Amino acid sequence: MTEPVLADAIAVAYIAAAVLFILALKWLSAPATARRGVRAGEIGMVLAVVGALLRHEIVSYQWILVAFFLGSAVGIPMAVFMPMTAVPQRTALSHAFGALAAALVGTAEYYLRTPTLDAFTMSALDLEMLLGFLTFTGSLMAFGKLQELLPTRPITYRGQNVVNLALLGLAVAIAIYLVWDPGATSLFPVFAGLALVFGVLLIIPIGGADMPTVISLLNSYAGLSASAMGFVLDNKLLIIAGALDGASGFILSVIMCRAMNRSFTNVLFGAFGSVQAGAAAPAGERTVRSATPEEAASILAVATSVIIVPGYGMAVAQAQHKVRELYEALTKRGIEVRFAIHPVAGRMPGHMNVLLAEAEIPYDRLVEMEEINPEFPQTDVALVIGANDVTNPAARHDTSSPIYGMPILDVDRAKTVMVIKRSMSPGFAGVENELYYMDKTLMLFGDAKAVVGEMVKALSGAAHA
Ligand code: NDP
Repeated sequence: MTEPVLADAIAVAYIAAAVLFILALKWLSAPATARRGVRAGEIGMVLAVVGALLRHEIVSYQWILVAFFLGSAVGIPMAVFMPMTAVPQRTALSHAFGALAAALVGTAEYYLRTPTLDAFTMSALDLEMLLGFLTFTGSLMAFGKLQELLPTRPITYRGQNVVNLALLGLAVAIAIYLVWDPGATSLFPVFAGLALVFGVLLIIPIGGADMPTVISLLNSYAGLSASAMGFVLDNKLLIIAGALDGASGFILSVIMCRAMNRSFTNVLFGAFGSVQAGAAAPAGERTVRSATPEEAASILAVATSVIIVPGYGMAVAQAQHKVRELYEALTKRGIEVRFAIHPVAGRMPGHMNVLLAEAEIPYDRLVEMEEINPEFPQTDVALVIGANDVTNPAARHDTSSPIYGMPILDVDRAKTVMVIKRSMSPGFAGVENELYYMDKTLMLFGDAKAVVGEMVKALSGAAHA
């Protein structure tokens, strides 16, 4: 191919990729079109990579091939073997690697092009490396916390915010100096070091419960870093893709903060997620009413409306297919069954949607929190399957609770409540759930998959009797 033709081919591939990325984001916003969205994103990425590989600046493919095989050797097992419940950690690792790549490209460009860097390119490089390096260490910390390799509780000390802001301020001051004098190469490692340390310090005061919000914010930073890299390398697709990533990550963080009724500053500086002393203390004299799956099935059999509330425990038990069987057994009896979806149920945004879609439960049966909440008082049975924090009424009124203010599913307002879980252990936030002690609540102790399976058996047995 002649050079102008090649340049045109690359431009067309980049434009097609940019359009596909935008469509992917649009399609990913609804469960019914999400698969199409993933495919569009994948095709866009292939076009982007092929376009980049065709660029005439590439003089040898040898090292690219080595990186390709090394990356695949790590990435493929991660995608295939990491369980669904570990997707937040996996996402944190991907951000760490992506951000490190951006920061290293920035470092290489700095040393190759200094001292001839113009002010604009140096500013873009500053942004790329600051965000890239801090996202790298920050994402590794987030991974460590979610994987419980590091303590999940917030680690705080007096004057922490002042120290963090001072560190960031120093890094920004060096960045500004480098714009003025790009040849000050001795300052560069200090700048990179400060950004790396800031990433660690940024994450240590944040509790495990806030980690998904933070991961999505780090996603946004990694995207902005890549976008800045696009300005440095004069690659328009990188600018677009990075900006899309930056904006969508930020919007997702905002949505998650709203779902938990938290402000950004509160997430970043509030040390939420620290389990209050005694918060999960045993309930003393209080007793709960437990029932067998057969008893629960006989109550469900005479209901006219049921709302199923799935949570993290359904994911752990991989109970979604049994839940579909239960859904079918109940709908066959003419019972109206809907699923209440809390925005932060499970351990990642959309967790419940993904599992229920995998089990082929019709999308129109999934109802978002705001829409389903007014329905609970008219509902015969709210069946909670492995959800805990997202149903805890303490979030409404107990100002001392760490989850106070988080919008919850109004399960306690249903006529009868059934809760499937293995024990009286608390959920992610480490707090006791008063829902379990209500007179109208029946506890069905056991693994969600096993208990739901027993219920299905009992219902079909009753149908055949
Ligand atoms: P929770 O973590 O509050 O509760 C899950 C419950 O599932 C536990 O009480 C546990 O009880 C039960 N469980 C675990 N395994 C099983 C099993 N095999 N069978 C039956 N039950 C089981 O989950 P929720 O979904 O209610 O709430 C999500 C929490 O996670 C919120 O605090 C949210 O802020 C936080 N979070 C959300 C993220 C998101 O993006 N969605 C990401 C990270 C955190 P037991 O051990 O007794 O069985």
